[in-house]
Amino acid sequence: MTPDPRADPASPGPALPGPIDPPARLLMGPGPISAYPSVLRAMSAPLVGQYDPFMTATMTETQALYRGVWATRNEATLLVDGTSRAGIEAAMVSLIRPGDRVLVPVFGRFGHLLAEIAERAMAQVHTIETAWGQVFPVSAIEEAIVRVRPALLALVQGDTSTTMNQPLDEIGAVCEKHGVLFYTDATASLGGNDFEADAWGVDAATAGLQKCLGGPSGSSPLTLSDRAVEVVQARKKVEAGIREPDDPSAPDFVRSNYFDLGMILDYWGPRRLNHHTEATSMLYAARECARLILLEGRQAVIARHRLAGDAMLAGVRGLGLAVFGDLAHRMSNVVAVEIPDGVPGDAARAALLNDFGIEIGTSFGPLHGRVWRIGTMGYNARKDAVLTTLAALEAVLRRFGVSVAAGGGVEAAADVYAGA
Ligand SMILES: *Cc1c(COP(=O)(O)O)cnc(C)c1O
Repeated sequence: MTPDPRADPASPGPALPGPIDPPARLLMGPGPISAYPSVLRAMSAPLVGQYDPFMTATMTETQALYRGVWATRNEATLLVDGTSRAGIEAAMVSLIRPGDRVLVPVFGRFGHLLAEIAERAMAQVHTIETAWGQVFPVSAIEEAIVRVRPALLALVQGDTSTTMNQPLDEIGAVCEKHGVLFYTDATASLGGNDFEADAWGVDAATAGLQKCLGGPSGSSPLTLSDRAVEVVQARKKVEAGIREPDDPSAPDFVRSNYFDLGMILDYWGPRRLNHHTEATSMLYAARECARLILLEGRQAVIARHRLAGDAMLAGVRGLGLAVFGDLAHRMSNVVAVEIPDGVPGDAARAALLNDFGIEIGTSFGPLHGRVWRIGTMGYNARKDAVLTTLAALEAVLRRFGVSVAAGGGVEAAADVYAGA
């Protein structure tokens, strides 16, 4: 007798859903963005075993590719499995000893996230803040370092919540002078804005695929200087026969197993000690993202983002819209556009999505309801994506009663492309 499927509470019954079939979308928000087609193809490649020579060779190859993306010689360059936040958490819980002083300059939502994670790592957290839409002068950061004397400076590079890009080129030297480790969250900026891990003296940096790198979320590229590696290696949990305790009366070790970078380094390093099972399809995706960047040229990809960002900025201004923040320090890959008076921001975004298949972003905290965030990153840092978005935005604004110059956005953006 065949059992009645409806008698099994776990069975979806006759209404079994069909295969996944997402709508066509042009993702022009602050991330995630539409992935490069070849990244999606790479993810459908067959799986191999964890210690298959192909797997270990692919891991090694991917490390080398990311050294190119980060502009570093750091041996300790790898992927943390999980979204960008996994990389952030791995870096912070592995570098921060309980009781360490940590300085977090906050210029947007993600600075608050770094402070929150540092607090969970049992740091004494000190923050300095600047108004949303601004960045810190180096002098303000140095002054706070001298006052707080932190073990670690944790600083966001591009904060998509405000669209500001904190200059980092002089921060490493300041940190080195004062004996401070320098960690930066480059999730939203890497690949679309300048980043020079070695030349800037960065000790630890993390990212994600779903912004300028042009992949899906779920893998977090990370790089550590030799100085940072020393700190995490010294904090490995003592395991019989593997490492003797330095000081058995004061056991300090990373409290997370999954995010213990000492163990993750042993997995990616020559010893290949088992830790987690590397997320194979995400490894393929991350490898393809980096390969595409190096194939096009790291500087060429940054220039492509700058051009698309300039065109989008000119385009929204061409529609008569105002732009938020200190434009001298904007990220090249996302712009915050003030919502015109009388336009219901969320309804207009919904019209863009439902009628044109285009997604732009809302915003958080003090900017909620005030600005939309429009991204031009990764695969979508393209002329046709910029012009299509501006044409659709014009139509939606008109529908909501805003009088806009006909074609003003598309024309201004096309002029930027024509002049390039
Ligand atoms: C988008 C973004 C993240 C995202 O973290 P996820 O875990 O991938 O969602 C982190 N940091 C910054 C600065 C970002 O802009």
